[in-house]
Amino acid sequence: MVSGRGNAAAGTTLSLALFTARARRCLAVLPLSFAFLAPPAARAQAPPAPAYHFVVVLNPAHGGTDFGANLDGQPEKDYTLAFSTRLRSLLEARGISVVTTRQSDVRLTATQRAEIANHAEAQACLTLHASETGVGVHLFTSSLAPASPTLFEPWKTAQAAWITHSVALEGVLYSALQHAEIPVALGRTGLPAIDSMTCPAVAVEIAPDGAAAGSGSASGSLADPAYQAKVAAVLADALLEWRSEGPQL
Ligand SMILES: [Zn+2]
Repeated sequence: MVSGRGNAAAGTTLSLALFTARARRCLAVLPLSFAFLAPPAARAQAPPAPAYHFVVVLNPAHGGTDFGANLDGQPEKDYTLAFSTRLRSLLEARGISVVTTRQSDVRLTATQRAEIANHAEAQACLTLHASETGVGVHLFTSSLAPASPTLFEPWKTAQAAWITHSVALEGVLYSALQHAEIPVALGRTGLPAIDSMTCPAVAVEIAPDGAAAGSGSASGSLADPAYQAKVAAVLADALLEWRSEGPQL
């Protein structure tokens, strides 16, 4: 614990990875002691001390000068932020604590996003994207090769030790979406923010509902509030199921 504080004070991303790895080991016995070590941004969003530490991080991609894709006139950065807000409220209604990487139209670096996620000691980290290409929901996990956890986790490949958990989380999301008859596809990708996350991490890219494709109807389009609500509700229920499977440490 003391050495973890020293590493955090050094202020490097590498030391932060070490700090979070060590803090994770301390957290089970000293959850309240850890709270004051978090930086102001994370502390402001920290949930009340839970009996079972289950936090979901929502990471709406893009923001600020990074507009993302053009979604029929709407920048992807606005879509992901709005969807994050919608999903957050559904999760909190289910008693799940949520930390978001951004709540406004700001541009964050991949490092900043991963730092927020790693300080949250999250059990699930969802990065949110949207696309007019394809149908349904596309789920991605890091393309890093799985690696055993080590004391010295390199910042840029910290996710390697979490791949197994990330794929398991992806499986829960996949099953829930399939059950809800939302088309879903799986993939691997190299995203710097995810590759540095020390949590089960999945990128969720929302595309139009396949059933509406070519129908000429707004129903099932990305902008359709009913479709957004359906996807968000399925994800929220899936995360509730994920919580029931116990801590992923
Ligand atoms: Zn995107």
